[in-house]
Amino acid sequence: MNSIHQTCLTRRNAIGGAFAAGLCLGADRVFAAGDTFSDASRPRLRPLPTDGKTPIPLLGVGCAEKFPLRTRAGGGGKEADQRHAAEIIDFALKHGVIWLDTGYGYHGGQSEPFLGRTLKKYPRESFILSTKMPTWMVKKPEDGPRIFEDQLKRCQVDYFDFYLLHSVSNKSDFERVYEKMGVLDYLIEQKKKGRIRHLGMSYHGKSDFLDEVLTKYEGLFECCMMLLNAMEFTWNKDGPNLPKVAVKHHVGVLAMEPLAGGRAAGMRGEALDILKKVHPNDSAGRWGIRFAASQPGVMTVFSGMGKLEYLKENIETLSENFKPLTEEETKTYQEAMAVFMKNPSIPCTGCAYCVPCPYGVKIPQIFAWYNEWAQGGRLPSDKEGDKNDSQDLRRRFLASYYNKFKAQERADRCLACRKCQVPCPQWTFRISTEMAKVADLVAHVEEVYVKKGGVIR
Ligand code: SF4
Ligand code: SF4
Repeated sequence: MNSIHQTCLTRRNAIGGAFAAGLCLGADRVFAAGDTFSDASRPRLRPLPTDGKTPIPLLGVGCAEKFPLRTRAGGGGKEADQRHAAEIIDFALKHGVIWLDTGYGYHGGQSEPFLGRTLKKYPRESFILSTKMPTWMVKKPEDGPRIFEDQLKRCQVDYFDFYLLHSVSNKSDFERVYEKMGVLDYLIEQKKKGRIRHLGMSYHGKSDFLDEVLTKYEGLFECCMMLLNAMEFTWNKDGPNLPKVAVKHHVGVLAMEPLAGGRAAGMRGEALDILKKVHPNDSAGRWGIRFAASQPGVMTVFSGMGKLEYLKENIETLSENFKPLTEEETKTYQEAMAVFMKNPSIPCTGCAYCVPCPYGVKIPQIFAWYNEWAQGGRLPSDKEGDKNDSQDLRRRFLASYYNKFKAQERADRCLACRKCQVPCPQWTFRISTEMAKVADLVAHVEEVYVKKGGVIR
């Protein structure tokens, strides 16, 4: 019997009450006396495809950059942020969202130690913990074991439920790190020792290589994390093939970035109106989460959930009452997304694997700033008669940029060294190329603004 499955049957005694009931539902439904959960208060369970019965919650907590470990969630400082993040974990665990996914480099290396400290008070069997081998950081054979041992220490555990090869994207890196350097053999050995319960990968490459690697190692990888959102599917036409390949190999699909780093949740104007006509009360975020969970073979959707209200909405969306998008709803969502994306943006998810830039350029922040202006249809234009041909708009655009970024952090400081490109999992764009475009745009807007009589102080 699988470890998590065993957990379900034994854990109720260890913890008791409604909390235990949050985990043990679905095929192996176990209710505790006085269970107060309603159907909408815990995520639906789906079975692990490799055994067809281990119950896995449809919603998981992604502890990467959108997780509120830093002040961006309005926490007001390191300690307050950590308290806020811990509250989110506590709430999640109480409501059956028991899979926490982290990575070695998340939050500049702070995510794993934070989870270690926060999860210490919970019995080890009461949560599912996954982390990943940072493929790009493995330069020599000893790096794999060193990093893995470090991760166990940081997380204060003696095993990982799921352990993923991080950001697999092409054959040469896979062969170099996992085959020639022996890191995959090492991880298989850790699995035999019970220090890893299930192996998987997070994948950012093309579907034919995924098929190749899953065929070669048939049965070894039990889950595969991939970008599943409607924006990604617009940029990357091969994207919808990835979950189908995983299903072909009986590998559970883990949806990452269901809201494209939060951008899909920010849909507004004409695009949002299209969605509101169908479901007036549903947010764009709810549509995005439903879209991700409706793709073939999805076992778990991971979301960063920087606020408790997002977690609550996602639990409700992916609860026992979850309904996949119908064909009609899918068309509606894609139509709205097409309208939303009329204004081209940069497909950066904000994962921050690329930082720090040795020259100080604020890479994810600059792209997020640019996307906000682009997707809101507010980029200044100098075409006569265009609604955005306005000095007021140029002034606001420039002020926003110069107030947000110090001189040494701006796009024009990029020297195209490409150091950031290696860890970036998004192969559909080049960071330095996009950075140059942002720098050129700002320079051009400034030139036009000044030419038309504007003053830069
Ligand atoms: S390419 Fe540009 S943004 Fe990337 S690390 Fe080099 S200087 Fe920084
Ligand atoms: S540029 Fe790439 S690595 Fe950096 S935040 Fe964006 S997607 Fe992530």
